Amino acid sequence: MSGQDSELARLDVSDTAGVFAARQLGRGLAAALALEQQDQIRVATALSEISRSAVPAGRTAVITFGIDDAALLLTVAMDGEPPADGIAAAARLMDRVAADGRVVRMAKRRPPGVRPDPRLIGERLAAVQPRSALDELRRQNQDLITALDDLRQQKDQLLLLNAELQETNRGVMALYGELSDELEQTNRGVVALYAELDEKSERLRVASESKDRFWANVSHELRTPLNSIIGLTRLLAEPAPGGTALDPERLYQVQLIRNSGGTLLALVNDLLDVAKAESGQLHMDPARVDLPALFGRLRGLARPMAEGKPVEVIVGADDDPDTPVTILTDEVALTSILRNLLSNGIKYTDSGEVRLSTRVTGPRLQISVADTGIGIPAGLQDHVFEEFYQVPGVRRGGTGLGLPYARRLARILGGDLTLASEPGAGTTVVLDLPLRTPAVGTVLLADDDAAFRGVLTGLLSGLADRVIEAEDGAAALSLIAANPVDLVLTDLRMPGMDGAALLARLPAPVPAIVVTGADGPPPPRAAAVLRKDELTRERLEFTLRTVIREER
Ligand code: ADP
Repeated sequence: MSGQDSELARLDVSDTAGVFAARQLGRGLAAALALEQQDQIRVATALSEISRSAVPAGRTAVITFGIDDAALLLTVAMDGEPPADGIAAAARLMDRVAADGRVVRMAKRRPPGVRPDPRLIGERLAAVQPRSALDELRRQNQDLITALDDLRQQKDQLLLLNAELQETNRGVMALYGELSDELEQTNRGVVALYAELDEKSERLRVASESKDRFWANVSHELRTPLNSIIGLTRLLAEPAPGGTALDPERLYQVQLIRNSGGTLLALVNDLLDVAKAESGQLHMDPARVDLPALFGRLRGLARPMAEGKPVEVIVGADDDPDTPVTILTDEVALTSILRNLLSNGIKYTDSGEVRLSTRVTGPRLQISVADTGIGIPAGLQDHVFEEFYQVPGVRRGGTGLGLPYARRLARILGGDLTLASEPGAGTTVVLDLPLRTPAVGTVLLADDDAAFRGVLTGLLSGLADRVIEAEDGAAALSLIAANPVDLVLTDLRMPGMDGAALLARLPAPVPAIVVTGADGPPPPRAAAVLRKDELTRERLEFTLRTVIREER
């Protein structure tokens, strides 16, 4: 109990009247200290229980009333052993009861901050003395009735609360039922939607495949007769020595046929390229490509295209000094893209220049071809990447397949092609290529052939931080569940769960490369396919560059 105890009153109890007085005073002080009514009754009852059990035993008790900061303190000092039943009764009513020899100390918490008024306490003390037993009995009855009333009220409240709770529970259950119904319906909807989506994308894939097959076949079929036509017109126009030369009119007509044949052949060749690129059949052969040498060849290729026009072709004259000498890429594809851009620049520029230059931005190389030509209206700049699209009113030959094909190649190389243009001022097309092989964290290898896993692990050294291995799809999936994996390299044929099944179950964000000895179409989920028999470090690095994009 707190050290700042202060005494409020003292009372001697040796008979029944004293018991009543103790009871009254306890209650009065409790009220003066703003204890709740029930606590007032508890304090009064505890005092009366202790002193009541003492009086018949012929004992005298001195009760001291005091307070500390937090509680009303009652000390009962007896001239003999305090009765145990009295202490037990008090212990149920007070917050603390401690018996120490002949002294019993009790405490009841009180509301903080209430200062007892000394005058009021004096009055209470005076009032308790001349009370009759009957008065006190009446008073006690009153207390009992109040306590019973309180009890009834509490019981009523409890019943009410119970009813409310039951009502709420019923509401919650109903809501839960509704929600799970709705959830089930939504789920069913989502599943149906996904099934439809799968079916649609499968149909789309089949349609796109048959379109590509159609173009590839038609192009092949067309090329043979076209080559004959062109060859025959050449024979007609340039007869063998001793043959009869055509008269000028005929010669002119034959040359027209020959030119048209040439245009048609170019179109067919373009179509074949696009079809191949779309069906993923373009075979990339990554190697370290010497950029200055490549630019030299492009210069030689492009200058004749500008002949007879006041257009200067400048290739690689003002390159970024950070430009590396070589870049790991497919030389044929890179040449094809840049030849196309230079040819467009020259074709659509009447005077000025066409300039090819490089810039290094972080992990990427940008090769731009800028011309001072007619430009492209703002609204049409996206359309020029659509197959067969040509800006209306400015036809200068061509097929409308050059830019879409170049963009497709750029993406196969792990890069992209973008265009900016201002009508009347010129056009700049930028080819953006990866310069570095991105660092990969953890790579998971799934292959039943331990020796080949060893080969792959060797090839990945320096490229991946960590390589973990699995013998089949199921083992791979449990490894993935336990480790964060940044890339999966998987064989297709494996006993147990095969590569296609593994790919179908792979978490969406994990990129996957198929490394296979088997021919056949790649599973849709594969970001790239590598053939085991032609796997080299360069091919692996090149593929990593195309699969994992490193931002600038
Ligand atoms: P095309 O064989 O017609 O050149 P492309 O696919 O290469 O086909 O280009 C599509 C269209 O984009 C062209 O027909 C032309 O209208 C426009 N275009 C392409 N490059 C340029 C350029 N450098 N300047 C102006 N217009 C261009």
